[in-house]
Amino acid sequence: MTPFQQLLSQSHLAQYRVEPGTRVDLSARDPDETGPFEKKKKARKELERLRTKLIALQDRFYAWNERSLLIVLQAMDTGGKDGTIKHVMRGVNPQGVQVTSFKAPTQEELAHDYLWRVHKAAPRRGRIGIFNRSHYEDVLVVRVHNLVSESVWSKRYDHINDFERLLADSGTVILKFYLHISREEQARRLQARLDNPDKRWKFSKGDLKERRLWDDYMAAYEDALSRCSTEHAPWYVIPSNRKWYRNLAIMSILVNALEDLNPVYPEPEEGLDHIVIE
Ligand code: ATP
Ligand code: MG
Repeated sequence: MTPFQQLLSQSHLAQYRVEPGTRVDLSARDPDETGPFEKKKKARKELERLRTKLIALQDRFYAWNERSLLIVLQAMDTGGKDGTIKHVMRGVNPQGVQVTSFKAPTQEELAHDYLWRVHKAAPRRGRIGIFNRSHYEDVLVVRVHNLVSESVWSKRYDHINDFERLLADSGTVILKFYLHISREEQARRLQARLDNPDKRWKFSKGDLKERRLWDDYMAAYEDALSRCSTEHAPWYVIPSNRKWYRNLAIMSILVNALEDLNPVYPEPEEGLDHIVIE
């Protein structure tokens, strides 16, 4: 296979990766950045080129049935988790993809350890699993709202690293994306939800309460991204004020990860060459 030349280079994408053991400063990362692209148009062409590639790779990944892929999406409200799933996965065979959205835990979930519901949702071999919110909520919203004491949540970073190592050792490739938007961009998007009748259903007054806690969330995110970016499950901070660039960056990282795996179609049964179906 000839190597696929991407307009968004591996070295540029590598800047978004949180190097394990380093400290993330979100205020130093520009959510407006659009890499080598000035305008949406060229990026859109590249996105469609990558989509063709992704669809073919996913088909082989499914047939190969050797490994799993887990995509974790985290963001502030309006950050674009839903939009990322919709636009990046469009055209991919739905049979090979499973999306799990993690809401506030149910009574049954609360009666177990916090990773119980998450482990159950981990993708089986051959599948791409997408977490729309994830176990990271247990060190984000839970920490910001003191839903458990610090002595409880502070132990969770290590649990999470160990849990993700278990998944990785069992054949799961893990990609974690933090969709980085500015507070101003969130204001624009919330206002747009209010102004557009078709988007109002997405607006919740609770979002305003969370918005007031922006700085607390940023601090919690910085800790999660810094402490839980590992070689086996790296975090990427994706500039996400421009939705088209966010989609392209994530698509590129996803295609690169699948290409690195080099999935192959299984060997067919022997002696099929001369069979003619009558
Ligand atoms: P989104 O806002 O992501 O598009 P949504 O609007 O469809 O999702 P919400 O009910 O607003 O649905 O979001 C789910 C809520 O559940 C979020 O406020 C999130 O913080 C909360 N949540 C998720 N996991 C947990 C958890 N482990 N503990 C407490 N709250 C959680
Ligand atoms: Mg919401």
